[in-house]
Amino acid sequence: MTVTDPAARRLTPAPPSGTLIGMPAFPANARAQLDNPQLRSNLRKATGTIRAKRTAHVAEVAEWEDLRLAAEAIKNRTLRHLDTYLMQLEESLQRAGATVHWARDAEEANRIVVGLVRAKGADEVVKVKSMATQEIELNEALEEAGIAAWETDLAELIVQLGHDRPSHILVPAIHRNRSEVKEIFEREMHQYGTPAPDTLTDEPADLAGAARRHLREKFLRAKVAVSGANFAIAETGTLVVVESEGNGRMCLTLPETLISVVGIEKTLPTFADLEVFLRLLPRSSTGERMNPYTSMWTGVTPGDGPQDVHVVLVDNGRTKVLADPEGRPALRCIRCSACLNICPVYERVGGHAYGSVYPGPIGAVLTPQLRGIGSDIDKSLPYASTLCGACFEVCPVRIPIPDMLVHLRHKVADKKRRGRPRLEPTVMAAGSWAFSDHTHLEKVEGLARIAATVMGRTTHLGPLPWPAAPWTNARDLPMPPRESFRAWWKKNRSEEEQ
Ligand code: SF4
Repeated sequence: MTVTDPAARRLTPAPPSGTLIGMPAFPANARAQLDNPQLRSNLRKATGTIRAKRTAHVAEVAEWEDLRLAAEAIKNRTLRHLDTYLMQLEESLQRAGATVHWARDAEEANRIVVGLVRAKGADEVVKVKSMATQEIELNEALEEAGIAAWETDLAELIVQLGHDRPSHILVPAIHRNRSEVKEIFEREMHQYGTPAPDTLTDEPADLAGAARRHLREKFLRAKVAVSGANFAIAETGTLVVVESEGNGRMCLTLPETLISVVGIEKTLPTFADLEVFLRLLPRSSTGERMNPYTSMWTGVTPGDGPQDVHVVLVDNGRTKVLADPEGRPALRCIRCSACLNICPVYERVGGHAYGSVYPGPIGAVLTPQLRGIGSDIDKSLPYASTLCGACFEVCPVRIPIPDMLVHLRHKVADKKRRGRPRLEPTVMAAGSWAFSDHTHLEKVEGLARIAATVMGRTTHLGPLPWPAAPWTNARDLPMPPRESFRAWWKKNRSEEEQ
């Protein structure tokens, strides 16, 4: 059955991720997710499998560490001169026949894309999986404008048909198992196009077949495709999409119009730089030696592929991140997900607890920087880590996530203090004064004895009221000795001995 009424083809959007800013802090979300044993089992199995594949295939590359160092250096150089490379990218794209648009924020990017789709008279688009479009909530903006956005990546399709949210950068439906996917396909597919066959089983080949049939009519019908890009080459104006299913290749070649929404940090200076990243990315992400599909397109090629190519270069907070030297390394991220798959916290709570399209360790450092440390969820994200350091060890571009988490924790603490003097340096200064001279220490002990008498304490001085409460509530604070050693010595030794 094919649904022909465009209105009937609309999908009820998944809960928009923008509302996630109103979510409770990470610990409350995490607790809720920990109550779901099915989720924990799905996550353990999926992340364990990808981790093992990655470890095996990374071990085959003797120069892996050199590749990581090269990738870090290329990305650092690009970010240092991002303004220059972006201008070069614009020039190269225009020379190749593409139209370049600049978007300061999500609203502007969405307005540009909606305008372009409307100008084509289209009421639907097919989409290649793209984190940038999720970040700006493009599907919701298109839906609002009466344009259906069909996700064509298998996992994204599962998430979209399930009216769900992605929980992993690379495997958005990682929280779903096969029987859940079968149930979603049977329940939802017929409402939006070709239904799932009556004989559908939960075998992966069967599920993939149902998705392929469901998507095929959309690929053949759509006049406009929307993609992101893994890399954008300044030297040539080439955009690169790396994927595993071939759905990206269909979107990038069949429709007449292609709109690519690209975060400005995806820029690489030269085509030769790709060599490093195309070796690092597949092994770090899906644990494959090579990804099955690498699509590259440079503007418009007459008679071949989309004849109207638009590139929307999106800032949406990135220049703010760029301005902070300690936060800047987050812009090196190539969205491989290795840090998610290795993280003991992510493995137990999954992606939804992070309240962001970027979950896991990279989400904990990137999201509060992009959105600002304002909401409960964003303030709590830098604490969503044990600081074990595994994320740095596997990161192909060597992002020092643990150091950045500490940096962001400082920022959260500073914001909470709202200009009040910091307690810790004050206490340290008082301690330094007390221990710098025995007469000071005797004075402090004397005062402590008087305080203990006033408070009626006999065995322990603590717990003390604020500001000492957070420290003394959880620790023993013994009574100061009735008599100092010096006083005892004075009393019990003759003058000669003294
Ligand atoms: S931070 Fe590193 S490991 Fe994590 S997704 Fe980005 S590139 Fe991959």
